[in-house]
Amino acid sequence: MKLAIASGKGGTGKTTFAVNIAYVSAMRGERTRYIDCDVEEPNGHIFLQPHITDSVPVAIPIPEVDEALCTSCGECKRICQYSAITMILDKVIVFPELCHGCGGCALVCPTNAISEVPREMGVIEKGIIHLAGSDGASSAQSASGDAIDDSNPVQEQTETMPVVDLQAGTEKVFFDFVQGKMNIKESLAVPIIRKAKEYVLDEGVSIVDAPPGTSCPVIESVRGADFLILVTEPTPFGFNDLKLAVETLEQLDIPMGIVINRYGMGNEEVEKFCSERGLPILGRFPFERRIAEVYSRGEILSRELPDYREMIESLLDDVIAMLSRQPSGGKRGVGD
Ligand code: SF4
Ligand code: SF4
Repeated sequence: MKLAIASGKGGTGKTTFAVNIAYVSAMRGERTRYIDCDVEEPNGHIFLQPHITDSVPVAIPIPEVDEALCTSCGECKRICQYSAITMILDKVIVFPELCHGCGGCALVCPTNAISEVPREMGVIEKGIIHLAGSDGASSAQSASGDAIDDSNPVQEQTETMPVVDLQAGTEKVFFDFVQGKMNIKESLAVPIIRKAKEYVLDEGVSIVDAPPGTSCPVIESVRGADFLILVTEPTPFGFNDLKLAVETLEQLDIPMGIVINRYGMGNEEVEKFCSERGLPILGRFPFERRIAEVYSRGEILSRELPDYREMIESLLDDVIAMLSRQPSGGKRGVGD
């Protein structure tokens, strides 16, 4: 099962839910992988405290022009949709920060004056999540090697997935961590997100923590998910950005449900909107001081608050039930 967690507005608690859903899934014994695609500002690690075992650079190919071969024909400038390659007088100039690495300019160059060189834009970090047992003591260990092999990220999972031993050796749980991190001063998140998503599991549960907003990085993060959870809050800003997110993301034909965080503040607009659009509300999580306190300590709510964990369990059960009723390939039918 591939679950994407997104939100129109930032700060609604999206990462909190992504982390808690991953945690509860792992505690149920599901093979679980948390993938942080909020590459400009990944923060799931603050709560999950992974032991990072590997870091893989992400690069895109950008053009390099051999002036000796260039005839100044201008074809490269004409094809580039991003103004990343241009001409000043007879000289070709490349703006690496604007280049999307599409390869178009090299393809059209009639004299093969353009070669491609890698430009690093970020990293994928991989690690193991060490969960504490019910007594609070860490009991995690790696049974089959620390690193997630990068040679074939989709195929390698079975052999090298670390085993996390949760409850004093009685329960075996697969739970690991991937995050994309964009380098400072970079502006293109999508190539890093695309790379991070290569680590989505074929089997088991993958939790993709998408960036906020409704732009390309969100679309790339959510694309291919079995189910999309949109986290919002019942405020005018939350409502406005939820509407934008629903209108954008429903184009992807992914079944979706809504989580209302900080329930009890604000107004009823989100509820009315969901009712009118036939969007299922998967949970209403209260606006309470004790939740804010656990959060502010960087702790996992489902581990510290049993009733919170029950709400996440129920949310997960609802998603699984909805997916089981979903005709394969059908459009947003759940809750309709
Ligand atoms: S690789 Fe694509 S985006 Fe980059 S300069 Fe060439 S045409 Fe433009
Ligand atoms: S397409 Fe090739 S030959 Fe033409 S201007 Fe660009 S680099 Fe020079």
